[in-house]
Amino acid sequence: MKAEIVAMDETKLDMPALEKAGEILRKGGLVAFPTETVYGLGGNALDPQASQKIYAAKGRPSDNPLIIHIADMEHLSAIVKKVPQSAQLLAEKCWPGPLTMIFEKADCVPLETTGGLESVAVRMPSNKIALEVIRQAGGYVAAPSANTSGRPSPTLARHVIDDLADKIDMIIDGGMTDIGLESTIVDFTEEIPTILRPGYLSEPMLAKIIGQVRMDPGILAADSKTRPKAPGMRYKHYAPKADLVIVEGDLAPVIEKINSLTEEKLRQGSKVGIICTEETKTCYPKGVLKSIGSRASEESIAAHLYQVLRDFDQEEVEYIYSESFQTPRMGQAIMNRLLKAAGHERINV
Ligand code: AMP
Ligand code: MG
Repeated sequence: MKAEIVAMDETKLDMPALEKAGEILRKGGLVAFPTETVYGLGGNALDPQASQKIYAAKGRPSDNPLIIHIADMEHLSAIVKKVPQSAQLLAEKCWPGPLTMIFEKADCVPLETTGGLESVAVRMPSNKIALEVIRQAGGYVAAPSANTSGRPSPTLARHVIDDLADKIDMIIDGGMTDIGLESTIVDFTEEIPTILRPGYLSEPMLAKIIGQVRMDPGILAADSKTRPKAPGMRYKHYAPKADLVIVEGDLAPVIEKINSLTEEKLRQGSKVGIICTEETKTCYPKGVLKSIGSRASEESIAAHLYQVLRDFDQEEVEYIYSESFQTPRMGQAIMNRLLKAAGHERINV
């Protein structure tokens, strides 16, 4: 293993370790660290070679741009051409937090970091470890999710170790990430601010702050001919080793359907997994059960989604049946990730 692994708590920062992380980053190395969304794989955003190293470590296509993470508002103006008033307002209300905004890039931002685009994505995370890593590194850290491209985003340091330990210099273990889904991305280079990726902050929450906001038509329909604007939303999505099917409808018929599908596959000699919730875990007599969280807390469902998908890959099940989680606020973000993992295979009951 190449990476040095250090563990710390967000409430008790290990400053010598964070200074070392900063030094690695300033010298062009790579450090993975926790954020409130998922773990990030950091490199100096203003160093084209560091960005190239990030793409290589992840196996990420080099035209899929990286998000630049900053820790202080004063740093924004150095990397973008202009900040529209509505973006300024959103930053005041939502930063630090799970919001990424896209602007026209300033000349100092290398095209290697933006995947060749003239625009740049920027976020200020709220995780205290992340903020200190960014400050120690000099203020500008490009940090995509710290997973091998095509695998679920990492929500535990263990996931980062599994994917990247022999490819990067340091991994900071800050425990399980709070939100567990990637940030909401809003594009301010469009006339109407446009959501390119749904996340913890929903469309109505954003509209309440800035008034007009729209959803990128390309992410609403999978089979649509309209391509999503964010390059990363176009790439082949994560697919579990097993055949994942989402069963949608009222809960009682959903449970009945999943049980009958499970019976059928078990009779054929296949191994079957079921994604259920705390409320329904006693309703499935057969199959390998994994509870994703509680229906009373959509936060818990978002937080465990990627972990459950990774865990099922290790169970070697051949089929996975999942309940659907159209929860009020984050439902769009949760179902966006789950439907992609299922290749949009869904049954309505
Ligand atoms: P990740 O870092 O893994 O969360 O992925 C970052 C996401 O932001 C990907 O879907 C990228 O395609 C998207 N993104 C980053 N920069 C831009 C940009 N300038 N324009 C459009 N999408 C972007
Ligand atoms: Mg990613």
